[in-house]
Amino acid sequence: MTNFDPQALPVTGGIQQVGVAVWRIVAPNPSALTGPGTNTYVVGAGRTVVIDPGCEDPGHLARILEVAGSGIDRILCTHSHPDHSPGAAWLRERTGAMVFGLPAPDDGHQDPTYRPDCGLDDGQRIAAGGMTLQVIHTPGHASNHVCFLLEEAGLLFTGDHLMCGTTVIIIPPDGSMRLYLESLARLRAMPLASLAPGHGAVIPDAAQEIDRVVRHRLAREDKLVRALGSRGAATLEDVLPEVYDDVPSFLHRYARYSLLAHAIKLVEEGRVQPEGEVYRWRGD
Ligand SMILES: [Zn+2]
Repeated sequence: MTNFDPQALPVTGGIQQVGVAVWRIVAPNPSALTGPGTNTYVVGAGRTVVIDPGCEDPGHLARILEVAGSGIDRILCTHSHPDHSPGAAWLRERTGAMVFGLPAPDDGHQDPTYRPDCGLDDGQRIAAGGMTLQVIHTPGHASNHVCFLLEEAGLLFTGDHLMCGTTVIIIPPDGSMRLYLESLARLRAMPLASLAPGHGAVIPDAAQEIDRVVRHRLAREDKLVRALGSRGAATLEDVLPEVYDDVPSFLHRYARYSLLAHAIKLVEEGRVQPEGEVYRWRGD
């Protein structure tokens, strides 16, 4: 396993080399949810693999072809949210490469153009230009979410399971906080060096970041427990300003999805009883 210093590698024209044969291309779709934009990664030399083609922007897709050359072997999608997979069909058409990903759930939050040619199996190993990517099924942010581990570098392509500088939204019922934390625990036990997220810069210390995210999620859950415990019963709208008092109010319309995901986890654990819109605290 080779650890590397992403800061020591060059950035040219929006294309950053983040590993020995790994390049990051940032799609021009910045927003409150996507940070600087969706990261597309090109992995390998010669026969390359593209991870998350991003949005269908002509300039972005041209940059992917420029980096990957004519040798794109496979197109991999970590999941099918509309900022990650729409470029796949365009790339498939131009290169003949097949698209790999898990089938999309029907929850109204998916890319309608997403049509993978092949599924993926947990533990499956995929050749990537002289290196190997291992498929890790990581449900939580989305039920069809996978991460890819570049075994030679201990570099994990995290999609939206982990982002740099922002917290991932969990949208129930397809998104699940319980599964999200279980997937994180599974990743924590793996020999990871660094994280290459779907949004933001490479995170050099995987274990430290996973521990930080777990602490953050459990602290949020604890605030919900205290808010419900002190009231006995409440709607999520009632407790939202208290549970997310450290988050700017313009982001609360997104935070309410993750708050619902936390509440569902507490219901699954038998600590909270749902009664219509109201959640009643039952105790630990
Ligand atoms: Zn997503």
